[in-house]
Amino acid sequence: RTKTNQKGAFAFYNLDYDIDLQRKLRLNTELNFANDRHELSLVFQPIFDRNRKLTGAEALLRWNHGELGFISPEEFIPIAEDSGHILQIGDWVIDSACQTLRDWQDMGHTELSMSVNISYRQLAEHALVDVTRLCLDKYGLTGDKLILELTERVFADDLTLVRENMRMLSEMGVRTAIDDFGIAYSSLSYLRSVNFDILKIDRSFVKDIVQDQEAKNLCLAIHSMAKSLSLQVTAEGIETEAHLNTLIDMNVDKFQGYYLSKPLTKADFHELLVSPQA
Ligand code: C2E
Ligand code: MG
Ligand code: MG
Ligand code: MG
Repeated sequence: RTKTNQKGAFAFYNLDYDIDLQRKLRLNTELNFANDRHELSLVFQPIFDRNRKLTGAEALLRWNHGELGFISPEEFIPIAEDSGHILQIGDWVIDSACQTLRDWQDMGHTELSMSVNISYRQLAEHALVDVTRLCLDKYGLTGDKLILELTERVFADDLTLVRENMRMLSEMGVRTAIDDFGIAYSSLSYLRSVNFDILKIDRSFVKDIVQDQEAKNLCLAIHSMAKSLSLQVTAEGIETEAHLNTLIDMNVDKFQGYYLSKPLTKADFHELLVSPQA
């Protein structure tokens, strides 16, 4: 299928690239209908304090495609961000997470917080604050149990806008977290110039803390920097008891990872609330 215009020249055609591109285009088109077809859902990964008390959960998006099966958010979120589908999907995520938070409160679990991942595009181009306020009102919630997680990507946008959004959210009592800290754009001055409440240490830093002293030192440094900015610290990607104990010794505040619990369906999370020992 390749033609060359020079006689005798070879054209290299990268088939893998072609297949990747076709899949991307397909996913992008089908993201249009995913929500109407009820293929999107949220799962909830429990978050614990140092005494292993459940303090809340992070809502994570799942796409169960009719033909292709489960597609990872690592694959479809960037596509949805490029095309702008993330704006509508993101609104749905906030609404759905608030609805679930309402259910937890109705079950008497008023102490639990709900963390929601927010794309930089929702903040830059979409009325994130208005959407959040509408959803809180719709379900009769105050803002103080909602945590919005943003990645370092927001620092590449207009910082004035970011600060303004953070200020309005904080007036609503909504807390904000800087997610996956340390893997991308961060600079310490950015972190100081925007008022976050929580810093989430990326799991790539947690992975080696037990056997690798340098990895551990890096976590210690991130933690002490966060504390000097009065941020709460959550560690993600805790896969072993040794991870957990090392991070507890560092005085990390909150813990999340497969060792403690995988993300759970809404029904399974309810089960956990009803019978915590299960
Ligand atoms: P994230 O916000 O950093 O979420 C944590 C990811 O780590 C989740 O992957 C979770 O399942 C995974 N994880 C949790 N514990 C462990 C562990 O112990 N070991 C390992 N290896 N992984 C663990 P997931 O659900 O695949 O989500 C990937 C990313 O997709 C999220 O990273 C987040 O950036 C993005 N994402 C997910 N849901 C949404 C959403 O509703 N909106 C937006 N904008 N992004 C989302
Ligand atoms: Mg997150
Ligand atoms: Mg994270
Ligand atoms: Mg991460």
